[in-house]
Amino acid sequence: MVLWLTLLAGTAYIVTPMVVDAVGHSLAHVIPSELGRWVWSAVSVLSVELAAAGCIWAARSAFKSARRSAEPGSQSWRELEQIRAEAASLAQRLAELERARSEPEGELDVSLSRSGTEPSTTRREPRFPCPAGCGKEFLSSHAAAGHLRACKVRLDGQAVAEVLGGDHEN
Ligand SMILES: [Zn+2]
Repeated sequence: MVLWLTLLAGTAYIVTPMVVDAVGHSLAHVIPSELGRWVWSAVSVLSVELAAAGCIWAARSAFKSARRSAEPGSQSWRELEQIRAEAASLAQRLAELERARSEPEGELDVSLSRSGTEPSTTRREPRFPCPAGCGKEFLSSHAAAGHLRACKVRLDGQAVAEVLGGDHEN
């Protein structure tokens, strides 16, 4: 940048007198003062230099940004790598699921060994536990209600409630 500015000043310093020499006589009709002719020449030289420098700078920055988007380590490159990794892991998971489905006995063995005796109890049809919470289960809600009349836990709870109610009344 400093080098370019030096070069620019040098070019203006060398070229401006030449421009003044070359077109000074014809400019004398348009721009009467000599200082005005010098300024006009300097501006014309500098404007050409600046325009050229602007074009080079724009081209270089465009080239850099074009390279950046395709380089490894750039944002789009990382996103692409991430998507590839996700696709690979999903394909692996899919293969595992396909294998498990094609071998139902193997999958069953795994689930049994994992959870012990749980599957045999959870696979039974729904039961109706005692509403009072004594832990007994029945095949129908009617059977549970019938048990509730004689449930020891419920009767004990009722006796406690009566005692407590009596305390409140006194
Ligand atoms: Zn009960």
